[in-house]
Amino acid sequence: MGSERCTGIHFPYASKCGMHHNTPLISTVVVGLVLAFVLGALAQRVRISPLVGYLLAGVVMGPFTPGYVADQNIANELAEIGIILLMFGVGLHFSLKDLLSVRAIAVPGAVVQIAVATLLGMGLGWTLGWPVGGGLVFGLALSVASTVVLLRALQERRLVDTERGRIAVGWLIVEDLAMVLTLVLLPALAGLLKGEGTSGLSAYAMAQPVLITLGKVAAFVIFMLVVGRRVIPWVLHYVAHTGSRELFRLAVFAISLGVAFGAAVLFDVSFALGAFFAGMILSESELSQRAANETLPLRDAFAVLFFVSVGMLVDPAIIVREPLPLLVTVFIIIFGKSVAAFGIVRMFGHPTSTALTISASLAQIGEFSFILVSLGVSLALLPDRGRDLVLAGAIISIMLNPLFFVLLDRYEAKKQAAEEAAAAALSAEDSAAEVAAEAARKKPARVELPVTALTGHVVLVGYGRVGSVVGASLKQGGVPLLVIEDNPGCLEKLAQAGIEKITGNAAAPGMLVAANLEAARGLIVAIPDAFEGGQIVSKARAISATLPIIARAHSEEEIAHLKHHGANSVIMGEQEIAKAMIAQIGLASI
Ligand code: AMP
Repeated sequence: MGSERCTGIHFPYASKCGMHHNTPLISTVVVGLVLAFVLGALAQRVRISPLVGYLLAGVVMGPFTPGYVADQNIANELAEIGIILLMFGVGLHFSLKDLLSVRAIAVPGAVVQIAVATLLGMGLGWTLGWPVGGGLVFGLALSVASTVVLLRALQERRLVDTERGRIAVGWLIVEDLAMVLTLVLLPALAGLLKGEGTSGLSAYAMAQPVLITLGKVAAFVIFMLVVGRRVIPWVLHYVAHTGSRELFRLAVFAISLGVAFGAAVLFDVSFALGAFFAGMILSESELSQRAANETLPLRDAFAVLFFVSVGMLVDPAIIVREPLPLLVTVFIIIFGKSVAAFGIVRMFGHPTSTALTISASLAQIGEFSFILVSLGVSLALLPDRGRDLVLAGAIISIMLNPLFFVLLDRYEAKKQAAEEAAAAALSAEDSAAEVAAEAARKKPARVELPVTALTGHVVLVGYGRVGSVVGASLKQGGVPLLVIEDNPGCLEKLAQAGIEKITGNAAAPGMLVAANLEAARGLIVAIPDAFEGGQIVSKARAISATLPIIARAHSEEEIAHLKHHGANSVIMGEQEIAKAMIAQIGLASI
């Protein structure tokens, strides 16, 4: 495959392809992104995380597989930009408030779990004959989960805003902070860990590099808090007022990359920490959401290149060369960490399902581990073999991760079925509606929901700006109402209004059946996304051919789309706004 690629396109690597153009940067970026896209799409197709595809793209482009070999140095630098943008994003989403609300469990949990995983890793390092420093880096690398993988898993299941989602994210932030600290301290401690020249040195001399590093970090933090905190939001506000989207975008990138670079050059702080701080300072400003959105496309692209560059380091032969150590490494990542996390969460009195969610979320490693092992190797603390084990272990754990969530879903489905049976047996007079509402609260969408007892009711999808007004009016008119809403933030509002609800995405399997659509008098789809709306409408039409369905649209195309899927009438918001405006100025209505 590689040689075909070489004959068709002339890559700049004389050794393999002949020297025609000397554009290693372009070829690394282009081949990296194209291969990552192809393999990522394939991975998605077979229902594993696209990250695995990106990593495999790296393996294909790496020196251990035949064919095109990208320039590792360039790939590493590109990866560094990816890390800066990722960390900037982590900083932007870092909310001290969220962290504090779950600190009672997240802090001790993450600390104990990091300790357990590190000890297990050190144990493996010890049996493989590595020095303590190597084992420590190895163990730490196994202890920290990937932000990218975890957030994606939680988002897919709409768990981010739930209690357990918050615990998982808080836990991850503590892990991240511990890793940021490790990255900062490791170079300073490297000599000590290697046992170099420690004999005859006073405690002060040994502690000196650490103190200097901490001093520099403190100087950077103070500088950011005093100067950055004022200047950065001011610059962004100023640019936002110019109205130029392009300049705003540029400002966000200039700030994230500039602060990271400045932190590294002036304060000797890692790019990662610099970027994290830049993001964190911005997260206090109301412009942070916009800033986050602006960085998304570039961040994604460079994050992909980050995974590709990591994949390039992986020697697939490790599977046959070191099957046993690899197996143990994977075991530590998947079971060692999760069992520790499970135990801690249960100890704190949280339910089993929460403990299992946290365990599943953490049963993988990713970007921080890669950064850590690269640093460990460059400081000559960790043998190359350790890095290879971590990289291969990471790929395997990321591949297996979705499986744990599937198992978790199964467990919850079973548990819920058992609970329902028990509830039904216990109180026959309990209305089905209560059971349905309770079940919906516990487990949105995934499992078969009990059907509501309502009949002759209106089913309203979405309780936002549009839905809440419709709902209030129906309620006032005494029409029985059931709302399907997937934003847990609206639930309180619904509870206050005394409206029965089902939590979750109305397009998910089982939702419309649970809403007893068959016996409903109408369906109102009041969500802004016409694509998703179309799915809901067509599912509803499949349940009932005669049900009146009203949907919401923003353009002529969307109206056609929704009607095509079976909506009887579609209201275009913009048109209604125009009509109201015309009415206001007293002209005839259109
Ligand atoms: P608004 O645009 O302000 O009327 O808000 C729309 C509301 O619909 C929001 O509260 C969303 O959480 C909710 N929503 C959007 N998509 C879905 C969906 N597929 N299922 C249920 N609720 C949804």
